[in-house]
Amino acid sequence: MTPDPPSRTALVRRARRINRELAQLYPDAHCELNFTTPLELLVATILSAQCTDKRVNLVTPVLFARYRTAADYAAADRAELEKIIQSTGFFRAKANSVLGLGQALCDRFGGQVPGNLADLVTLPGVGRKTANVVLGNAFGVPGITVDTHFARLARRFGWTTQTDPEKIEAEVGALIPRPEWTMLSHRLIWHGRRVCQARRPACGACALARLCPSFGEGPTDEDTARKLVRTGPFS
Ligand code: SF4
Repeated sequence: MTPDPPSRTALVRRARRINRELAQLYPDAHCELNFTTPLELLVATILSAQCTDKRVNLVTPVLFARYRTAADYAAADRAELEKIIQSTGFFRAKANSVLGLGQALCDRFGGQVPGNLADLVTLPGVGRKTANVVLGNAFGVPGITVDTHFARLARRFGWTTQTDPEKIEAEVGALIPRPEWTMLSHRLIWHGRRVCQARRPACGACALARLCPSFGEGPTDEDTARKLVRTGPFS
């Protein structure tokens, strides 16, 4: 017989407990993209699509030294820009986004990155996920970043059954207090990269085992599970 789903109160309580345990596990979880300004983070996040943060961090020192302002990106020579960002993959589409982004920031926002979701998502190459990364990490506005790790772990924790990022964001947002949203995003991504990976989660070596309704989705034997844990760094 399938066990009854937890009551709403039990679900909220468990979700907050998992968040607290993750905070203890990963006290220094942070955005793994290197940046010093909202514009740099916005560009780095666009480049991180289908690419590792580590790879983006190899490219951005040259990129950020060459283009310092939105106007610099708007006026960039396409071939030169493409060459710099080539190794991040999908470089033609990304160059389009970055050129368009520079232009749109100059045309509509006085060359500054806007600090709100409604404006950010009007920019080329900027979806809700990118906007929330920038809000949470460059503006201090709490944001839930639903990437592949976040979505997988939120489902494994039983916080949602949705696959649509916007619905996941709303359902998880209703469980966890708003001030925690940005750090919660980092914590889930860190745990997803290191322990609760997509194909074989390291359940037998997972500190959340007793709280997680998906315990057993990966090997529960400690020795086997330990070998699956990845230590990073990922940036
Ligand atoms: S117990 Fe398994 S499924 Fe649950 S969080 Fe840990 S590794 Fe992931």
